[in-house]
Amino acid sequence: MLKGIAASQGIAVANVYKLEQPVLNIEKKEANKEEELAKLDSAFKKTVNDIEKIKEVASKSLAEEELAIFDAHLLMANDPELKSQIEDMINNDGVNAEYATEQVANMMVSIFESLEDDYMRERAADVKDVTFRLMCNICGKEIPNLATIDKPVIVVAKDLTPSDTASLNKEYAKGFVTEIGGRTSHSAIMARSLEIPAVVGVTGILEEVKEGDELVLDAVNGEVIVNPSQETIDVYNQKAEEFRKEKEALKALKDKPSISLDGREVSLAGNIGSPADVEGVKDNGGEGVGLFRTEFLYMKSEDDFPDEDTQFAAYRDALEGMEGKPVVIRTLDIGGDKKLNYYTFEEEMNPFLGVRAVRFCLMRKDIFRTQLRALLRASVYGKLCIMFPMIATLDEFRSAKEVYNEEKDKLISEGVKVSDDIEVGCMIEIPAAAVLADNLAKEADFFSIGTNDLIQYSMAADRMSQPVSYLYQPLNPSILRLIKMTIDGAHKHGKWCGMCGEMAGDEMAAPVLLGLGLDEFSMSATSILKARQIINSINYSDMQVLANKALELDNEEEVIALIKENL
Ligand code: PEP
Ligand code: MG
Repeated sequence: MLKGIAASQGIAVANVYKLEQPVLNIEKKEANKEEELAKLDSAFKKTVNDIEKIKEVASKSLAEEELAIFDAHLLMANDPELKSQIEDMINNDGVNAEYATEQVANMMVSIFESLEDDYMRERAADVKDVTFRLMCNICGKEIPNLATIDKPVIVVAKDLTPSDTASLNKEYAKGFVTEIGGRTSHSAIMARSLEIPAVVGVTGILEEVKEGDELVLDAVNGEVIVNPSQETIDVYNQKAEEFRKEKEALKALKDKPSISLDGREVSLAGNIGSPADVEGVKDNGGEGVGLFRTEFLYMKSEDDFPDEDTQFAAYRDALEGMEGKPVVIRTLDIGGDKKLNYYTFEEEMNPFLGVRAVRFCLMRKDIFRTQLRALLRASVYGKLCIMFPMIATLDEFRSAKEVYNEEKDKLISEGVKVSDDIEVGCMIEIPAAAVLADNLAKEADFFSIGTNDLIQYSMAADRMSQPVSYLYQPLNPSILRLIKMTIDGAHKHGKWCGMCGEMAGDEMAAPVLLGLGLDEFSMSATSILKARQIINSINYSDMQVLANKALELDNEEEVIALIKENL
């Protein structure tokens, strides 16, 4: 049995699908023309087929304009000119099909890359993509593509990018296991919002398993069992059934308020990555959206930053979907582990400490303004709260707000309707901001504590690093004190304080957070009902006493022991 971190709860039993890019060592060989031409022909057919399949799966989660990329690829895979160039080389030089394809591909790529026009230059990436697939098909090597999976599997990979995770089809991807990553890596967060069981940080898993092995994924306890006995499979199928039943039972709390036994009411909201996730939040009894991570809109976009209308439509859909309940939309948080296909960030030694989030937006105000305009235009469709990520200083918050106010004034003077009920808040995810929370609270309408980053920066422990993942200690008294400072700072000025980091959905943390006075807990939709069950079964006054004791303890272990004693 292998151990890892349970990143998204659930239990699955299925065969392994290894996500590894094939390595092609293409050599020039003399070959039989007829055989090579036949290989080429069937590889072209398979390539077209593959791309059609990818497009079909992607069409369930991507918008029409985002699917255009697949049409461009299909056009290329069906291009008689490309095929005849390769055929000519096979006929004239008597070489093998993969070598001829590589030569023609290299030539085409260098032509595209030398062109002046940006758009045409970017087509080089499409040529590479399509011809790589073609060469793999000639060589009989499968390109793993998550979108084309059509039987139940558990995906095993070194890591999954957020976009890999986004293209997982829930029907067949029963779970995933990765070698790296922690509970708060973005692929883990995506897994929770897609409700796919996931265990991350499993060292050596890629060595341990081969394609097709049977796997038990226990993403409740963070365990992976390779090629289990039939007895073990039966036990886990039983556990999966119990897990499903417990989830079903919690559904009774869906329309109930989140209120402690002695009457302290809080709001339990959901974190989303796209407007489509709103349904999941409502299905799970969410009382709002506490975090819309807008960067996924930017990451999905193929060749440029998404324009104002595209963004407007997404924000409007989320607001309308929540039917007047609050929707907290975070402005672009890019950088760190979140990259864009169409934009190259400056190389930095420590990207998590570099140009990320609001820092990027304040350097690229053109991009920031487009997003703010889209948000302001969408504001009339519901209850909008906007927040800025990675605020370290009061000046940064003021600068971001100034740009916001400028765009708001501009829109109003253009005669565009803007809600007069928008709240503008600040994420507290850098220790400096937590320490200065009472000053920030004078100028912000609300706070939302991003514990994933707050813990990473307080402990100086990269959230992507498995060896230092032991420093992810949400219940360490040091972290609890920063949280208390933030909540107290907000309340001193009559503002509300939420939390949208993973800690908000942590069952062990809920009693302490209630006791510290947190007003809103925003988490993966699937955690909401369990959190409600906990809040509804405890006393606020008891939890205040508990929280005060926890703040004085020496370490996380003592805090956990204290919570367990009291529940
Ligand atoms: C956080 O840092 O806690 C947070 C919610 O933001 P993200 O995980 O997207 O960095
Ligand atoms: Mg963050």
